[in-house]
Amino acid sequence: MRKNIVAGNWKMNLSHKEALSLYDSLKTNSNEMDKHTTVIVAPPSIYLSEFSKNKNEKIKLAAQNCSENENGAFTGEISASMLQSIGVEYCLVGHSERRAYFNETNELLKHKVEALLAKAITPIYCFGEVLKERESGNHFEVVKAQVSEALFHLSAEAISKIVLAYEPVWAIGTGKTASPDQAQEMHQFVRRLLSDKYGEAVAKEISILYGGSCKPTNAKELFANQDVDGGLIGGAALKAETFIPVINGF
Ligand code: PEP
Repeated sequence: MRKNIVAGNWKMNLSHKEALSLYDSLKTNSNEMDKHTTVIVAPPSIYLSEFSKNKNEKIKLAAQNCSENENGAFTGEISASMLQSIGVEYCLVGHSERRAYFNETNELLKHKVEALLAKAITPIYCFGEVLKERESGNHFEVVKAQVSEALFHLSAEAISKIVLAYEPVWAIGTGKTASPDQAQEMHQFVRRLLSDKYGEAVAKEISILYGGSCKPTNAKELFANQDVDGGLIGGAALKAETFIPVINGF
């Protein structure tokens, strides 16, 4: 049975004090969180080590990015082995903001995924079309390229260790959410791609999250879809009062 997962992406938000207070409040209220849902938070990396030392079993930690390189002269970068050494279990890869502002390509992301898998960190691989691509009817082709170019060199065993996150760029931070039907349609399409390449048994075990203005008022109807296995949450993950109801949206 594939996992239900809700992951909060804090992006470059929250002072040290605010971040600690949010983390503490999530830990304090973790007994209110759905037992069957894996909960992940991705704070700015500078806070990861401290959070990891004060971990709570329910809340897993993710980095927002990592280097594709193992180590060496890459000023400003953080490696997968560094993340592993402080107990980080997940890492976002290819968020649309990194694709847009840091020129991350499918080819580069392929190497980030490999670097993480080599250190037993679960990549949460993000993909999704921009508005123009949806309006021109190209969204399926775009998503197919993003998924296949970065991931389809992997073995069935390796791809089974990945979490996918469909995040239509036009829905991120805009207040516009994909309708439950639009989300289900794309998730089903991606699961079919996985099934064509790796077989149905593999495809049905891979969690595919939805991201894009997901919040307490729409999480239930999004997560009710057969192929939507949870969410990657931005804005609503910045407060325990909005993140916890999303976690409990199944
Ligand atoms: C995100 O950036 O991953 C995201 C889904 O943001 P928001 O929920 O704010 O749209």
